[in-house]
Amino acid sequence: MNRPRYFKESLAKLKPYEPHLVPYNIKLDANENPYPFAEELLKEIYTRINAKSFPLYPDPLASNLRVKLSQKLGVLPENIVLGNGSDELILNLYLAFGGKDRLALSFSPSFVMFKHHALVTETSFMEVPFNDDFSFNFEKTIETIEKSKPHLIFLANPNNPTGRLVDLDTLEKLLAYDHLLVVDEAYVEFSGLSAIELLPKYKNLIIMRTFSKARALAGLRLGYLIAAPEVISEVIKVKNPYNVNAFTQLAGEVVLEREDIFQKEIKEIILEREKLFKKFLTLGLKPVESHANFLLANFGDKAQEIHEALIKKGILVRYLGGVLTNYLRITVGTPEENRQLIKILEEILCGGQG
Ligand code: PMP
Repeated sequence: MNRPRYFKESLAKLKPYEPHLVPYNIKLDANENPYPFAEELLKEIYTRINAKSFPLYPDPLASNLRVKLSQKLGVLPENIVLGNGSDELILNLYLAFGGKDRLALSFSPSFVMFKHHALVTETSFMEVPFNDDFSFNFEKTIETIEKSKPHLIFLANPNNPTGRLVDLDTLEKLLAYDHLLVVDEAYVEFSGLSAIELLPKYKNLIIMRTFSKARALAGLRLGYLIAAPEVISEVIKVKNPYNVNAFTQLAGEVVLEREDIFQKEIKEIILEREKLFKKFLTLGLKPVESHANFLLANFGDKAQEIHEALIKKGILVRYLGGVLTNYLRITVGTPEENRQLIKILEEILCGGQG
């Protein structure tokens, strides 16, 4: 089919990002925080939200939140820029540092938005495959960096959808080259390993984080970058001025003030992850060792069938296809959700599809 001349050729094959929208009882497909949002936090947000701010544009730099976050992280406010989720920050990174005649490098399989926004911004994009066990292929990565000289590298650490983690020594070796390395720490609360300690040493390091996972604000859209002030300034030049709304800015502040609530949930999720891991092992699902709040499990050639069977039972998990055609990615839920998941999985795997 001919596209009108005013359509862009570069978008012809691009598919919109479409989450799987089907009815469910238990949602384990998007790595969200499974716990109900704490009532006391909700009350605090409602008490502090100022309706006078509704007709006015929000603070473009989310200054109050930026200062609170900087204190918490032990960096300067100038080291931080906030975004409408990390999805928007990925796009902003491409707007600032990508585009035609620019090359971005990432890894496969990994988070789809790295590639998506490369295509949107017409940035050339390459992927280095992980090894068969999804570990990082260091030799191949260095070889590709030296040969292709990317401007920008995206590495999710821990990686989505595998849950695997790259150590800081390896990151330092990648930082020795003349490119920007974006370490996407969306799941850092569940791994306990951050590259933030490398920031003073490397001007080409960007750390990206989100309030969507452990911090339970996926619906309000809040993420941030931590990097050298010069790098942050470049991103501020290209971002939408009012990208983070007033309500979200306040909710972010309130969430930051109540570390205790989230630490408790994080601990419980990690415990549940380990329990699920063992259970999956006994079910013969060969789960990948995970440092995040999800598990990638191998269902052999039945993965898609089991995905459908779980949906019929009201449980939503993620089937990714491609090189992961034998796998399902399953978010760690609450203890009760995980119990139900296991019960239904046992029924499906051991008792037919009944
Ligand atoms: N990075 C990774 C690795 C993710 O898994 C996700 C969410 N699936 C994101 C970024 C996007 O998060 P946000 O909700 O902040 O846009």
